[in-house]
Amino acid sequence: MYNSNMSKLKIAELFYSIQGEGRYMGVPSVFLRTFGCNFKCAGFGMLRGELSTEVETIAFAHNNTPYKDYKDLPLVSTGCDSYASWDPRFKDLSPMLTTDAIVERIMDILPHYHWKDEHLVITGGEPLLGWQRAYPELLLHPKMSGLKEITFETNGTQKLTPEFKESLIRWKIINHQLDREITFSVSAKLPCSGEKWEDAICPEIVCEYEQVGTAYLKFVIATEQDFADAECAIAAYRRAGFKGHVYLMPVGGVESVYALNNKNVALMAMKNGLRYSDRLQVPLFKNEWGT
Ligand code: SF4
Repeated sequence: MYNSNMSKLKIAELFYSIQGEGRYMGVPSVFLRTFGCNFKCAGFGMLRGELSTEVETIAFAHNNTPYKDYKDLPLVSTGCDSYASWDPRFKDLSPMLTTDAIVERIMDILPHYHWKDEHLVITGGEPLLGWQRAYPELLLHPKMSGLKEITFETNGTQKLTPEFKESLIRWKIINHQLDREITFSVSAKLPCSGEKWEDAICPEIVCEYEQVGTAYLKFVIATEQDFADAECAIAAYRRAGFKGHVYLMPVGGVESVYALNNKNVALMAMKNGLRYSDRLQVPLFKNEWGT
């Protein structure tokens, strides 16, 4: 039985769009973007060993004349494309909301005010940080009962708490008429992200996700070197017992960068018998905030 204790989550964005990446590419989805991340990924789009400082100018501008909304924030072509969802300098844009308030907002953005065939994506930042404690209440809310499929978009470094793990298993079987599915879309960070290998590649943790649902790996690729790194990482995950699929996805939070290497990455995936993931949100919606 649902028993609301009014847990709260700090929410960077909540919007309705098409899932542009991975297993559910093309599926209409509600995106719940939580605030906070354990990484910075300032190496994306930079030469090896260099870190992006693009966000510094935006943070400076925000400090002087605050942006009012995520939609007003500039896009970046280097570093993490969802920087405002974890950088504390933008935390004022992310309200703390009760699970009840979040569910009401979800109902408002669903086209029929209830779940039909839409899928829920819990993303970030890194959504498996401390917010794990609030998800059971969110998922067991009566108005969420029609939800069949959830994806956690994670960097694959966070263990599931025993309570959260148990609640996910319960959620999957609580309504026998729904064939529920839980997916972990694991975007493991290679050295091109600027993060350290030993912090970012955590095979045992990702194998644990497979005990609860379907997990797959998604590597962001720009160069041959990135692919060589991905191969080493894949071998480490396989050695640990990981069984899921592997996707290669082109780097590129902005169209000009994405268009430079999407075809090359697709060809690389084909050549190596791996899956290709597009980033449909880039050509469709220019990867603007809220898409
Ligand atoms: S893990 Fe994801 S959200 Fe966190 S900094 Fe890296 S790209 Fe951004």
